[in-house]
This record gives sequence, structure tokens and C-alpha cells, in this order.
Amino acid sequence: MGSVGQTATGHRRRVLFFSLPYQGHINPMFQLAGLLHARGFAVTVFHTHFNAPDASQHPAYDFVPVQFDGTPADSADTVRVTVEHVLAVNRACEAPFRERLAALLEEEEEEVACLVADAHLLTLMDVARGLGVPTLALRTGSAACFRWFMAFPMLCDKGYLSSHESQEPDMLVTELPPYRVRDMPSASGATLGLMRDLISRAVTAVNASSGLIINTFDALETDELASLRRGLAVPVFDIGPLHVHSPAASSSLLRQDRGCLDWLDARGPASVLYVSFGSLASMSAADLVETAWGIANSGRPFLWVLRPGLVRGAPPSQPPPLPDGFHAETRGRGTVVSWAPQEEVLAHPAVGAFWTHCGWNSTLEGVCAGVPMLCRPCFGDQMGNARYVDHVWRTGLALHGELERGKVEAAISTMMGAGGPGTALRGRARELCRRAAECMAKAGSSDLNVDKLVNHIMSLTARRCQ
Ligand code: UDP
Repeated sequence: MGSVGQTATGHRRRVLFFSLPYQGHINPMFQLAGLLHARGFAVTVFHTHFNAPDASQHPAYDFVPVQFDGTPADSADTVRVTVEHVLAVNRACEAPFRERLAALLEEEEEEVACLVADAHLLTLMDVARGLGVPTLALRTGSAACFRWFMAFPMLCDKGYLSSHESQEPDMLVTELPPYRVRDMPSASGATLGLMRDLISRAVTAVNASSGLIINTFDALETDELASLRRGLAVPVFDIGPLHVHSPAASSSLLRQDRGCLDWLDARGPASVLYVSFGSLASMSAADLVETAWGIANSGRPFLWVLRPGLVRGAPPSQPPPLPDGFHAETRGRGTVVSWAPQEEVLAHPAVGAFWTHCGWNSTLEGVCAGVPMLCRPCFGDQMGNARYVDHVWRTGLALHGELERGKVEAAISTMMGAGGPGTALRGRARELCRRAAECMAKAGSSDLNVDKLVNHIMSLTARRCQ
């Protein structure tokens, strides 16, 4: 008898993947590919030249490049630039992807089951369906975020998303608790129009697909997942946290500095603050100074990821310069790297808290590490994720408004200090981590949903091109 991803005649069923070309989308896609490959499926990864994955890290997979090497424009308006880039990926890849996919279908002896594409790649999912290939949509954000996507036209019409200056940031969005005005990106004019387009395309992509695969788990987002199931016409497979199924070290676009793991080995349990703002978030030079002195003045050991390009206006190819006196003040107590093996860092017993920008992958990785989080969201879904950490799960604290070293120092002391509110935060973080492990364990919700997903994929078949 063949393994699960094989047909009765012993052929491996093939799943095709196409991710958005950003680290936070590539990682979960490779994690899903790893999961399905372990279940017996063959894997083909379509990818753009821009942020191409390293094929040598995945010798068991096939890779098909699709001509697109446009980089996002250099601008402080991260929302507009990112939305424009996503729409450009869709437009530019349409014709070359059609050509590449048609060629694959001509040649492929093994049976293609489906394409799993990022929910932001509607055009490419349309191409696949046009060639007879069923599609599954992968959402790399939370269920709450997709519920927000579905409510987006209503929120626009009610004026919640227009420029925040005219609104009270702490006002509750009564139609979509627990969000407040400040937890949703604000935009105006052309940027709001672009966002509306992007989001409605994602909802269309999911509803036109054969199912939604989402990187979350039931115990974390029970009500949000129930709401998605009520509102969507397709099955929802919440199978996360994906990184626990299949660690993603090999899909990192930047070289991970593994020396920091040795540095952590020499630290006491739960003593280190890990600081990272992901692959896209940026900050002003003034915020970098406040961040640096907040960390220094906290007196805690720290591991800080200072990615080149993090600070707006600094040369993008070099790590941003730290303020004078910072190294002398923190000598022997901290280490700074350009990029870390984050999953391993968070799982290290020396890490006691995580200062994050609240990208969804980082948030899930923090949840699974059972550490409290200090949240400094920057754009997109990050504010909403921070709201869940701070207000719903109550496993961390959010830093809003002007970044100021005194506020940073106080928040770090609360999270890492003995007794007081930090004890409660840490207890809840450990409990959430335990519940994630339960969902992933045999017969847990995510484990059962993986079985359902595998059976669903086995029921899909591409109508071969004549
Ligand atoms: N990451 C990493 N090394 C780092 C910082 C981040 O490998 O030094 C990984 C992290 O584990 C996560 C991804 O990069 O899987 C970032 O995704 P996320 O959704 O958190 O944020 P984004 O970069 O999309 O804003």
C-alpha cells in the first residue's frame, strides 16, 4: 500500500505551491510543503526571481522560476508600497505563470492534485483554474485578520478606516470587537482604494478556491474561526502553527547568524530579552535611539536582531548604527545580529521575553515558545495581532504612541521582573503554549485538520491539458 499522498497506481500526487515573495509568506508555505511532502505528496514550488528561495536547501522539491524581479519601491509609506508590489506580482506573473504551468501539465507524468497559492495571488489562482488545476488558498495571517478582511467594505463605509486623525484611537469597533480604531491600518485617498482592492481580491480568491488553509489553531482563535466558517463558502483547514509541523530554517532568505545560539547557551534560564521586528517593518532613526536606550536601561541581557534596512533613511545594505555609548553601556550583557534563527532562539530556555513587531509568524512563534511579548506593531495586520496579545490572550503588553525609553524600560521590567503583573503574563503565556501543543498532538484540532486537508487534496485532480 502506498503512503497517503499516492494514487492507487502508486504515483505520488503532486501539489504545486506559489507564495508571495516575502519572508513571512515564504516560511509558512515551505512549512506546509514540508508537511504535505512528509504525507507522501510530491512538491513543485513556483517562485518569482525576486526573493527566490534557495532550491539547494530542498533537494526533494522541484522549482519553477517565474519571471518577476521587481523590488518594492523605497518609501516610508510601507502600506502603499507593499500593496502596489503585491498587485504588481499578480500582473507581471500572469503570462509567464500560465506558460510555465501549461508546460508542466504537458510534461508531468505524476498527477497534479492542486495549486496551493497565497490568498493574495488571485490572478495566478485564476490562471491555474483556467488550465483545469484546482486551487487552495493559503492565508499566512490570523483568522481574526481574515474576518477583518471580510468586514472591510462595511468598515470602510462606516468610516473606521479613513485617516485616524479624525477619530478617537481607543474607540471600540463595535461591529468587530476586540478591535479598536487604532488596531486597524488607517489610509486615505488612493492608498485606501488600493487596500480595498487588495483585500477584496483576497476574499474573492478564498471563496473561488476549493478551501482555505490557515496558519492558526482552534484554541487560539475559536470564535474567529467559527465566524470564518459561517461567512465562507469553502472548507477551512486551521492546521497551525505550521512551524511546529515543519521548522523553516531552510527557507530563510537571509543568512541566519547561528552564533547567537552559543551566546544564549551561556545565559541563565529565562534571563534574555529577544528583540526582532521581522523582515519588513521599519522605524525612524529617533525610534531606534529610544529602543536602544530602553533596552540598555532595563539592565536585562538581550539578543537584538538589527536587520539592514530596519531604519528608514539609513543605508539599506548595512546594519543601522547604534547610538554612541550603547555598546560600552551594554558590554557583556547583550549581542546584536543581522538575522537570527528565530524559531530556535525563541525555543531556547535562556529566552524570557520577546519584543516583537507582531507579524503573524513571529506572534505564533512567540505563543509556541510560551514567552510574554512586548508588542510594537508597525503596519498591516500587526496592530490587530498586538491587540490579541495584549487584550485577548493577555500574554504581553503593547507599546503604542511615541516610543520613549522610559516606557520601554518599564515594559521590559514588568515582563521580566519577579512577581507583580509579569508573573501573571508569564503564566498565561505558558498556558497558551500548552494549548498550542495540545492542538498539535495526536487527535488535537490541528492534527485532525491535517488529516482532513490530506483527504481533501486526494479528492482533487487537475483536468489534464489536451
Ligand atoms: N525571522 C528569522 N530571523 C530573524 C527575524 C525573523 O528567521 O532574525 C523569521 C521569523 O521566524 C518569521 C519571519 O522571519 O518566521 C517573519 O515573519 P513575520 O510574519 O513575523 O513578519 P514579517 O517579516 O512578515 O513582517
